[in-house]
Amino acid sequence: MDRVGFIGLGNMGRPMASNIRRKQFPLAAFDLNPAAVAALEALGAEAAPDVATLARGADVVVTMLPGPREVSATVLGPVLGNIRPGSVVMDMSTVDPETTDALAAACAAKGVGFVDAPVGRLAAHAERGESLFMVGGSAADVARMRPLLEAMGTTVHHCGGPGAGTRAKLVNNHLAILLCQLNAEALSLATAFGLSLEAILPVLHGTTATNGQLAVNWPNKVLKGDTQPGFAIDLAHKDLSLILGAANAARVPLPMAAAGREAFSLARARGMGGRDFSAMLDAQCAAAGVEPPRLT
Ligand code: NAD
Repeated sequence: MDRVGFIGLGNMGRPMASNIRRKQFPLAAFDLNPAAVAALEALGAEAAPDVATLARGADVVVTMLPGPREVSATVLGPVLGNIRPGSVVMDMSTVDPETTDALAAACAAKGVGFVDAPVGRLAAHAERGESLFMVGGSAADVARMRPLLEAMGTTVHHCGGPGAGTRAKLVNNHLAILLCQLNAEALSLATAFGLSLEAILPVLHGTTATNGQLAVNWPNKVLKGDTQPGFAIDLAHKDLSLILGAANAARVPLPMAAAGREAFSLARARGMGGRDFSAMLDAQCAAAGVEPPRLT
């Protein structure tokens, strides 16, 4: 079994690393937040004192960090400075293609494998080991990562060579995140029209208007009054910014994404960046001057 070093134990990384440990992989864990590391220690993981020590002792280093800045600083610095040739770096964070391609090149230059495997579905799925992975990498590297991926999720899509997973993730999140703003607008309008959720939701779910956010995420989060972040508005705003930057580089116009990103900017300006992305409903209702609807 590969010895795994896992860096980044937040809303996603903690359950993912926990599921790896439950499958008996030898695991060392690191996060800037000591409480997050303690939760993994309780499952029998080793607490790494720093990234360099973790990288020296690992056959596979997994990163699940907020974004490009944290991933680049970690992988291009202490990880590649200490990892042995023949090991693999698997970045599972949501980053942009430019970052992923730079990581892949730097790993190749050191004789280290590289896989990008960003994660689909919600934090609740990660808790249950039911995540979906969009994977980029060589056939050999992906085959080596498969037991780890299967410890954390149910579905592995090998999208192509290094960088293909990151690109697939940005396409996925373009739709998944913008649906939050569309749902928020629709439900604020319904509320202003005096339509209850009990009246409007069966209509929306009975037509092509329905969508995964409205059907799967929202009933378990904002519509029942839970805006604790599974996926924070700040991270959704980061992803829309990555999507717009990458689309701009590819000369692909995304007018809806540009408008949607600024709706998320408004929510952040209201101090809501730390709330779940379904709380875009509350930001929109505040703008519309209506009470956010809740399931009773
Ligand atoms: P989070 O903010 O909950 O967790 C990030 C963790 O990284 C925190 O524990 C933080 O202390 C740690 N950290 C930050 N900088 C660090 C550093 N330099 N060294 C070590 N640890 C550091 O974020 P999350 O929701 O777990 O998301 C992680 C990544 O996964 C992001 O790229 C996000 O876009 C992506 N993602 C999130 C979800 C979701 O539903 N939450 C789903 C799919 C993908």
